[in-house]
Amino acid sequence: MSISESEDITFFDMAVAICPDCGTPVAESGWYGIDMESDVECYECGNVFNMKKHAADRATLSVVLSKNGKIKRLGVKDKIDLEDE
Ligand SMILES: [Zn+2]
Repeated sequence: MSISESEDITFFDMAVAICPDCGTPVAESGWYGIDMESDVECYECGNVFNMKKHAADRATLSVVLSKNGKIKRLGVKDKIDLEDE
């Protein structure tokens, strides 16, 4: 992703898991959801489930910011392979 001189860039580790009850994808921080194996709550049905057990994908997002730190746009920088259990 190219950025202009009036922009900064940072990165965000994001994971997606699928709610085992209703199939809704839920996005969370990759560190929180996968590395910490945290439970998350489905915003659709309210089911609480383990993020890592139901993980579907993980990626590093590139976050383009204005010089005063406001988020302008997102892209996918790298895909991170999920570890097999
Ligand atoms: Zn659900």
